[in-house]
Amino acid sequence: MKFILSEFQEGIPVPVEGSYDAKAIDVEFPDMLYTKPIFLAGKAEKSGGMLRLQGTLTTAVKRICGKCLKEKNEALSFEVDWIFDLSGKDTVEPLENVRELLIVEHPLVHLCKASCRGLCPHCGIDLNEGTCNCKENGYHASPVIIKKEKSKKERHHGTS
Ligand SMILES: [Zn+2]
Ligand SMILES: [Zn+2]
Repeated sequence: MKFILSEFQEGIPVPVEGSYDAKAIDVEFPDMLYTKPIFLAGKAEKSGGMLRLQGTLTTAVKRICGKCLKEKNEALSFEVDWIFDLSGKDTVEPLENVRELLIVEHPLVHLCKASCRGLCPHCGIDLNEGTCNCKENGYHASPVIIKKEKSKKERHHGTS
């Protein structure tokens, strides 16, 4: 989405629109995948050595919970109001603003909900949906050892 400044008349807003591919502009994360192009529409106005771009950026993403790996589709929409300094330029490309907006939108860790319990690291069950006995048994104990070899197990733990 490039604005050619010679096509703008001072003080007259012009409708503009364009789209970006998330992969091409490198804003995708392993836990935030874009399911739609990034679409920017609004108006741009050149005035007093500045270009002001006001509009709406919309796209859609699939987020993956960092704990339970559940996927969730989400539509994103941002109002933008950007001002570009035109000194020494004959074109304006808002790509960096778009990237910054979307990268800030990506959290360090996305969770499906703040209280997500995640997956049991032992049996893999989703602890939001069910429970398992792994914790009670200790993550490293196998049922065979618990049943018979009690003395061996005690030595193993180094209690002496
Ligand atoms: Zn989750
Ligand atoms: Zn478990």
